[in-house]
Amino acid sequence: PAIPTIKNEPVKPFSHTEPVDWDLLRASLLRYTDNGSLDIPLVINGERIYGKDTSRTIETQINPGKLSQELATVTQASEEDIKLAIDAAKQAKLKWLNTPFVDRAAIFLKAADLISTKYRYDVLATTMLGQGKNVYQAEIDSVTELSDFFRFNVKYAQELYSTQPSETSAGVWNRVEYRPLEGFVYAVTPFNFTAIAANLIGAPALMGNTVVWKPSKYAALSNYLLYTILEEAGLPKGVINFVPGEPVLVTDTVLKDPEFSALHFTGSTKVFKNLYKKISDNVANDIYKDFPRIVGETGGKNFHVIHPSASLLHSALSTIRGAFEYQGQKCSATSILFAPKSIWEDFKTVLIESLNTIKPLNTSQPEGLNGFMGPVIHEASFNKITEAIEQAKNDPELTIISGGEYDKTKGYFIEPTILQTTNPNHPFLKTEFFGPLLTTYVYEDVNFEQILTQVNNNSQYGLTGSIFAKDRDAIRLAEEKLRYSAGNFYINDKSTGAVVGQQWFGGARASGTNDKAGSGNILSRFVSIRAIKENF
Ligand code: GLU
Repeated sequence: PAIPTIKNEPVKPFSHTEPVDWDLLRASLLRYTDNGSLDIPLVINGERIYGKDTSRTIETQINPGKLSQELATVTQASEEDIKLAIDAAKQAKLKWLNTPFVDRAAIFLKAADLISTKYRYDVLATTMLGQGKNVYQAEIDSVTELSDFFRFNVKYAQELYSTQPSETSAGVWNRVEYRPLEGFVYAVTPFNFTAIAANLIGAPALMGNTVVWKPSKYAALSNYLLYTILEEAGLPKGVINFVPGEPVLVTDTVLKDPEFSALHFTGSTKVFKNLYKKISDNVANDIYKDFPRIVGETGGKNFHVIHPSASLLHSALSTIRGAFEYQGQKCSATSILFAPKSIWEDFKTVLIESLNTIKPLNTSQPEGLNGFMGPVIHEASFNKITEAIEQAKNDPELTIISGGEYDKTKGYFIEPTILQTTNPNHPFLKTEFFGPLLTTYVYEDVNFEQILTQVNNNSQYGLTGSIFAKDRDAIRLAEEKLRYSAGNFYINDKSTGAVVGQQWFGGARASGTNDKAGSGNILSRFVSIRAIKENF
C-alpha cells in the first residue's frame, strides 16, 4: 500500500520570540507538578493495576533537578504480574500477527502525529521533569526522534516486506513471508531517551510481535505517557504490556519462559553481558523454542580526535556540545579528547571560556527551562561521577582544567568538568562515567597516526567518534585506522545527535550488536523469514 510521505519531524527552535510555545510548555509542566505525584500503574492486557490499592511494592520517581519534588509513584510488578504480562503477550499475538500491516502501521503513524501535535508539550514536560532535560534536549528526544522512529519504521517495514526473491524458474512462484517471531519480545529500556524506549517497543510491535516492556523507573512518567498515547492511537490490549519492576526479578521471570524470542535492550554493557549470559545458559539447557534474537545497544567511550588542520573554534565548540549536552548522559557523548600540541593553548581557552557560560542549572523547572546543564539522573550516578572527580584531584597524572565542583542540595548537579592527563594509557581514557566528565590527552603533532592507533587499541568500545580536520589525507587515515572504533563515525561533527533515517545508529565491540536504530536493519531482527515455493 502507499504510505504517507515520511520526513524528519522539524525541531521547534523554542526561541523566546515564540511565546505561545513557552506558555503551552509551562502549562504542561505545571500540570505534572501542581497536582501532586501521579500514580503509575502496571498495564497488563490493557488492565491497569495500581500498587497503592494492593500490597505491591511502590517506587517513586523524583525530579533529579529538584529533589523535594516527587513526580510519580511507580507500581512494581510482582512475579505473578510478570507471568500475567507474558501470558497477555502470548494471547494477543495471534490476532496482532494477522492484523494487516496497514492497520498496524496506522497506529504508529497516528501516535507520531499525536506526539508532534496534541501531546507535544506533555511529552516534553514529562521528559524534562523526570529525566532532567532542558527544553532543546527534550525536543530532539521525546518529540522529533520519537516520532521519527515511529514514522520511519513504517517506511522501512514496507520496504522490507516488498523485498522478495528476484530469481525464479518456469512454473514456479518464489516468495518470502516476513513472519513475526514465534514467541514474544522483551524490551528493556533506558532512562536517557524517551525515543529509545519508543523504538525498543515500537519496532518489534510494528512487525507483528507482542512485547513485555520493562521501562526504567527513572523515566516512568514519560514512558507511561507514551504508553497511553499508543493506546489512544489504537494499540490493542496485550500487544505491549507495561511492567516496571525490580530489574532482576522481571528479567529472570521473563527469561525463564520457553516462548521468549528476543531481547531488545538499551543500557549498560555490564547488564547486557549479564542478560546475554543468562540467555545463553538457557539456550544450552534447552529452555527455549527459538534461538532468541539478542539486540542491544550499550556503553561507549566516544572520542574526538582533533588534527592540527581542524577549524579550532568549530571543533572546540562541538566538543563542548558532544561532551556536555544532556550532562554527558548519552551513550554517544564525547568523553575523550585528543588534541594536538600546536593548537592546544588556544583550543583550551575556547573550552574554558565557553564552559564559563554554561553553569549548571541551579533552579528547577519551569524557571530553568532554557539552561544548558541540568542534573544527572540519580544519586548512584552522582556518586560515581563525583568520586571520579575526587580521584582526579589526587592523581598526579590528571589536572582539572575546568569545573570540578558539584552540589546535591537541590538536585544532582555537577559542573561540566574537563580533565587533562599526561598518561596516554590513563584509565580515565578507557572507563565510561556516563556524566559531564571529559578527559583530554594532548599529543605531539607528529604523532597523529600513532594517536589514531592508540585510540583504536585502547577502546573496548565501538560506538561513536569524530575526526576534526581539513586535511583530506588526515581524514582518510582516521577513517582507516578507526574502522572498528566507532559504529557512528563523524567527520567534522560532534559524536552525538544521530538523526533517524540519516545516521543509522549503533556500535559494535562492547557497545552492542550494531543493529542500526533508525534504519530497516533493526526491523529485520524482529522477523523470521519463511521462504515459500509454489509450483503452478
Ligand atoms: N542516538 C543518540 C545520539 O546519537 C544517542 C543514543 C544513546 O544515548 O543511546 O546521540
